[in-house]
Amino acid sequence: MNLTQTTTTDAPSPAEQAAVFPQEATDHAEEVTEPKQISLPRALLLAPFRPAWVAERTTHLPLKRAWLGHWFSAVSTFVVIGLLLLWANWPTLGPNHITKAVQATQRELALLISQLARFPIESTLAVIGVIALVEVGHLALALNLMSWGARDEPLRNTFGFALRQTWLSGARISIAIMIIGGPLAAIEYENQTWSAAYTGPKPPEDLVLPARPVISRNDPGFAKAMADHKAAVDAYFRIYEPVVTARREWSARRPWLLKVPYAIGVPLGFMTSLWFLWALVRSMGATRNVPPIAHERRCIECGYNLHTIAMESRCPECGKPVVESLGPKVHPGTPWQHHPPGGVLRTWWQCAVDVVRGPGAFGRTLRVRESTTAHRRFFAIALVAISLVAETALLLTVGLLSFPREALRDPELLAIVPCATGCLCVGGAVLFACAAATLVGLTQSFTYGRNLLPTAMQTACYLGGFLVLWSIIGAALIIGLVWLGESNSLDAVAQRIGIPADMLGLLYFGTPNLICAGFFIHRLAVATGATRYANK
Ligand SMILES: [Zn+2]
Repeated sequence: MNLTQTTTTDAPSPAEQAAVFPQEATDHAEEVTEPKQISLPRALLLAPFRPAWVAERTTHLPLKRAWLGHWFSAVSTFVVIGLLLLWANWPTLGPNHITKAVQATQRELALLISQLARFPIESTLAVIGVIALVEVGHLALALNLMSWGARDEPLRNTFGFALRQTWLSGARISIAIMIIGGPLAAIEYENQTWSAAYTGPKPPEDLVLPARPVISRNDPGFAKAMADHKAAVDAYFRIYEPVVTARREWSARRPWLLKVPYAIGVPLGFMTSLWFLWALVRSMGATRNVPPIAHERRCIECGYNLHTIAMESRCPECGKPVVESLGPKVHPGTPWQHHPPGGVLRTWWQCAVDVVRGPGAFGRTLRVRESTTAHRRFFAIALVAISLVAETALLLTVGLLSFPREALRDPELLAIVPCATGCLCVGGAVLFACAAATLVGLTQSFTYGRNLLPTAMQTACYLGGFLVLWSIIGAALIIGLVWLGESNSLDAVAQRIGIPADMLGLLYFGTPNLICAGFFIHRLAVATGATRYANK
């Protein structure tokens, strides 16, 4: 199969092409000037802050160098983690901080090396496993997101560009770890400061909380064993009490933020992950100078080569008028691209409905060869709607739950749950749309010998309207599940039909979601398939 596109020897002359594709000249004209390329160190340094800018200036960076870059990023990530640990433990190091830190690092390294030497096979396998995980993870991420920036180019160029940007994105991991780990290290620094400054009574280091005795209730010695255990626990707390009291008093005086480390760390973790995904997607979608490929002019119905056929005649294979394949009115672009009068929301709604109702007809409006970003704005609106649906569903679910209202005042819960819900839904929608576009786009690219990822991605974005509907269905299912659980109906139904309640819950939630995923992929495949012989 020829995936590098058919470059015909009798490719149409520029004048001929301009006659067939009137908008061609202007489409590619804006991409002619290519920004100056930058070096690998500069790319790694700036990738976290200017993802698209770096992507535009690294299009010719050899893949080998980008690959080296991701290992450099891995090493710098380890350095950042080491520095954060040093910061967190600084107060306990006492005088001569630096010497002590170096000694502690040496001790840790010596311990690690002795462990590696003791278990050579296991350690070799572990090292290989970690390296394989890093490599496979990068490949999977690149594959998942490659359709986002796909253009009318050979498939290997699309994947190469995505892989290069994924490898360069490693530079963002150390920044992400700084953002998440910084506040956590600051909190730990405070804890260590307290420990270092605490001069009160200290329990001996080998003091451990006594374990509950393993003894049957029917054993005659049960009562005595339990009484002994309680006495031992009381004795433990008598020794620990001054420390606990002193710590509690100190804790009460601390700033509010330092009392709730998880309320900071967990939302920061979710938001930083979303930022990482955003930056990666942004770099994949950067403007690129893609040299136009000369395609054979085909019948959009059957794929017959119309090179020598006059515009006024019909396709010799299927009889479709040639003008319907090559005329100026075919594949005109979506209504969303043209901003027809009627307002943004009306056009958005029209496209969202059209792609679901008639994916084939919708696909015949899409342009494969032209580079467009309109569909991304369409998808962004869908993402806002999806996060609104998720947060509303969360509020309704909380209203249904029977747990004590005081729990709602817990700052950790208030900070973590809405943030996690929003980030997971938005990140999930982006990853799903891209993965579906890659799956469908690659399958059809291999089938028709032409890179169809650009139209698959456009369609996946326009199906964002369906994703909003899907999120509403998912929200209703979750609210229903909570309601069923609270009223014990789920257990009753499970007992009656004789399957475990967990399994019933999974079927109840999983089946409609699988149907929605299947529907999404089907619509995506039909619309993408309609662009397989597109001449624009
Ligand atoms: Zn035909």
